[in-house]
Amino acid sequence: MKLTVLTAAVVLFAGFEGPGVARAAAQEQSAAEREAASERWRRWRNYNRYPGPIPTPEEWEPPAGPIRIALQAGHWRADEAPRELRRIRYNGTRWQETAEWEANLVIARLAGAELEALGYEVDILPAVVPPDYRAHLFISIHADGSDSPAASGYRVSAPRRDATGRAEDAARVLRETYGAATGLRNLPVATRRMQNYYAFNYRRYEHALHPMTIALIIETGFMTNAGDRRIILDAPERAARGIVEAVKAYPVTALPGR
Ligand SMILES: [Zn+2]
Repeated sequence: MKLTVLTAAVVLFAGFEGPGVARAAAQEQSAAEREAASERWRRWRNYNRYPGPIPTPEEWEPPAGPIRIALQAGHWRADEAPRELRRIRYNGTRWQETAEWEANLVIARLAGAELEALGYEVDILPAVVPPDYRAHLFISIHADGSDSPAASGYRVSAPRRDATGRAEDAARVLRETYGAATGLRNLPVATRRMQNYYAFNYRRYEHALHPMTIALIIETGFMTNAGDRRIILDAPERAARGIVEAVKAYPVTALPGR
């Protein structure tokens, strides 16, 4: 018992040290980068359809403390969505008795546990992003479905309107690490639905990410394809590993010395 407590304390301490040091790098953003972000935001603000005050790049403050990673389990608790997001309440694909959200949540929890063991702060988010939520990196986890059982592969997308100018780099990293961990085929074309994912749409919804959140969405594979199911349903730890490796490899969220 004593030994267990001691081990836990050592792990906690080691974890705290790592991301604590990395925090400076993660939060560092040059004046030029900030100016470019403000410029992008000014160009898009006219599209605003959310009647409340929408967040601006100027008021962005990264979360305090260690590096915070948000893993959203797509469609999880979507039936609780507020009125502004009522269209998402009953979406998502399925395979036989398994709903998409269940597969997404398993992968999110496995990846989250691994990241916490490394010293990251992790939030497993449901379909509805809490207002004013902040993280250093947000990854929404989904699975595809198709009428054609032959359709297979994964795809990763950054927001179509990315105020940070950094999400495409993160997407490239995740495409690489996910492919390496799972052996699944990368589909190079992201769908409009991914690029315009509701959680990215701060111009329209209160329950959306701050525009300065580096955000990604991944379709981990097709639940309707036998080969893809061998990973996303039968070996979700491999899908989770692909996500963990991306967080570790992406310079903004990388741990020092690893
Ligand atoms: Zn989905």
